[in-house]
Amino acid sequence: MSGMLYLCATPIGNLGDMTPRVVETLGSVDLIAAEDTRNSIKLLNHFGIRTSMTSYHEYNKVEKADYLVGQMQQGKNVALISDAGTPAISDPGEVLVQKCQEAGITVTSLPGPAACITALTLSGLSSRRFCFEGFLPPDKKEKAQILAELKEESRTIILYEAPHHLVRTLGELYEALGDRRITLCRELTKKFETVLPTTIGEALSLYGREEPRGEYVLVVEGKSLRQKEEERQASWQSMTIGEHMALYTGGGMDEKTAMKQVAKDRGVPKREIYAAIHGTGMR
Ligand code: SAM
Repeated sequence: MSGMLYLCATPIGNLGDMTPRVVETLGSVDLIAAEDTRNSIKLLNHFGIRTSMTSYHEYNKVEKADYLVGQMQQGKNVALISDAGTPAISDPGEVLVQKCQEAGITVTSLPGPAACITALTLSGLSSRRFCFEGFLPPDKKEKAQILAELKEESRTIILYEAPHHLVRTLGELYEALGDRRITLCRELTKKFETVLPTTIGEALSLYGREEPRGEYVLVVEGKSLRQKEEERQASWQSMTIGEHMALYTGGGMDEKTAMKQVAKDRGVPKREIYAAIHGTGMR
């Protein structure tokens, strides 16, 4: 019989957040795959867990996943932990889960801390619809494309950032999204936990005066539907009626329907649009 993979969430700062089920599982599996064994040994020692560890990180995640799948196929139970929080959330895990699924090995998740959800719930921004971006990519082109998508995003956006890149990222968000509400969540669950609801512009001026310290989650307000509507209106106002018509007919709409839509957008009678296009009154 094959063993199983247990994805174990560990504290993001406060050891009191370790769940009893994770302690029990880490103590009873045959092997723990840890992102950084030197870091995780402190956690295991704290909870008196003696299970042997092997490293599973970004740079060995593919070959090591094959090894771990082999171990599970031989009947061993394996637990995966990351440095902090939930494995596979901006941490290695995804590849191992995929390979287990391909090999028909059961995977289960022991939920617990995740910085993104902790920050979202504290942000005061809408939590009804949200998206998680993790870290923005270092590649400039890829980052520009993601920022362009985020500009139109109407859901609340959650980002991770390291302190030494915080100012740069705030600047990029300001440039791409404009000044929006943002909540900076710092050192969550730790002694110096700070939740700062502000705007991107104010955050930039704050960190122009003081150095960012600690780990941050940025929770950014999505673009409101009102803002989208205002932008749509503003874009028509700078268009001629012909250009406005072409916007719809270019998308495959027939002329009659487009005229109706253009008249509705501009709040004018249809005959005005007809006259502007055909130069006569509507028949
Ligand atoms: N797997 C983790 C999770 O479930 O949240 C995320 C790991 S990711 C490599 C590390 C990033 O998560 C940090 O750079 C920071 O943005 C965020 N983070 C982790 N712990 C945090 C904390 N206590 N307070 C604020 N942000 C934290």
